[in-house]
Amino acid sequence: MDFHDSERESAFRAEVAGFLEAELPAFIAERPSEWGLFNGSAAASTPPEVREFMRMWTGKLNEHGWGAPAWPKEHGGGGLSVKEQFILSEEFAWRRAPRSGGIGHGWAGPTIMVYGTQEQKDDLLPKIISGEHNWCQLFSEPGAGSDLASLQTRAVRDGDDYVVNGQKIWTSGAQHAKWMILLARTDPDAPKHRGITYFIVDMKSPGVTVRPLINAAYSHEFNEVFFEDVRIPRANIIGDENRGWYLAQTTLSFERSNIGGAVGARQTVEDLVKFARDHRIDHQSTLGHNVSLRHELVERFVEAGVATMMSFKIVSIQAKEGVAPGHEASVAKLYGTELNQRIYRTGMHVLGLYGQLDAKSAGPKPPMNGRINYMYLRSIANTIEGGTSEIQRNIIATRGLGLPRA
Ligand SMILES: Cc1cc2nc3c(=O)[nH]c(=O)nc-3n(C[C@H](O)[C@H](O)[C@H](O)COP(=O)(O)OP(=O)(O)OC[C@H]3O[C@@H](n4cnc5c(N)ncnc54)[C@H](O)[C@@H]3O)c2cc1C
Repeated sequence: MDFHDSERESAFRAEVAGFLEAELPAFIAERPSEWGLFNGSAAASTPPEVREFMRMWTGKLNEHGWGAPAWPKEHGGGGLSVKEQFILSEEFAWRRAPRSGGIGHGWAGPTIMVYGTQEQKDDLLPKIISGEHNWCQLFSEPGAGSDLASLQTRAVRDGDDYVVNGQKIWTSGAQHAKWMILLARTDPDAPKHRGITYFIVDMKSPGVTVRPLINAAYSHEFNEVFFEDVRIPRANIIGDENRGWYLAQTTLSFERSNIGGAVGARQTVEDLVKFARDHRIDHQSTLGHNVSLRHELVERFVEAGVATMMSFKIVSIQAKEGVAPGHEASVAKLYGTELNQRIYRTGMHVLGLYGQLDAKSAGPKPPMNGRINYMYLRSIANTIEGGTSEIQRNIIATRGLGLPRA
């Protein structure tokens, strides 16, 4: 791995940094974490000026091809190399600049690009890029998460339509989405991986009901979604009937280093160190002298450096053309998400009673805009979403270490 940028990469880094210095307002960089701008859209609860900012920001990013940096240019993306995507993510993360992204950019769009008909590509891809269409992903069910192939939501053929009945759960962003990607069972008699079809569905279809689920951080991020005799035109299948499982497994060669997460970890540790330095005298736990807390902060600092190295390793694997990271991505996911939980636990130790203040609290402004309090609760989900820690360990054991299956 060469840690240095080439001349061309340095010029690109300077271009991104210059853009952000000039364009990113402080009120966005210093926002509370729960605004959740990472999906390229603002949640309903965020202030109107922020929603307006996100519309404008999406347009500006697209002018540079940075709204969908990994997508090929022919589909409106930036066509950036893996290393350029890495640089873009790193520079944006250092400045806490919001990105476009989410299910439309990361899942629906790429799947349509590879398996969609020309009509589906022409109609849907530009709307994902422009931010006109937000998407959500309806895969998990109450009885099918880690073992997703057990899903039971049924789609039955009826003329030119399918009629869908069933329930999905943990659907992030369904309350804002216009379209969904849906996995449903079309052949109940086939082996469980072979009877599943991949659909795209308009969220306004009659019979779709979205019910909010409030998470441990008191935030409305995910939902339950119910289907009662929902009619989906046959033209809304992506790929072939009963081949949906294989589409959902498609590994796309986009940048997956999660350098943004590693930068965020380092920033949070640095903020906590600054807080501990600034509160040596007046804070009840005399932070500067508390030996166990000093050691905790040092450990988190070292671990954030390790997470950064893991990101470098993944980008170096991906930069070798045609090589997709396998168990290495699981190592980084496992380490990064468990580290996140340790960092925010340390954060609560550092803040002491201040840790109870959140961004919405009346009275004194909470340290770090309430980020520690919110993320301490929100990071619980990090080791579940996107595949649990146990599943990552299984992948590392079998594919990484070559251990036999249990
Ligand atoms: C914040 C958040 C957002 C999410 N957003 C979405 C979304 O937008 N769309 C969507 O479809 N889903 C979403 N999910 C669902 C997520 O994909 C599932 O929660 C996850 O795959 C785990 O499935 P489960 O909750 O059914 O748990 P289960 O699979 O039932 O697991 C329960 C426990 O058993 C363990 N376990 C299961 N199988 C094994 C095994 N083989 N070996 C060892 N241990 C095992 C698990 O690790 C876990 O500890 C989201 C989840 C969260 C937390």
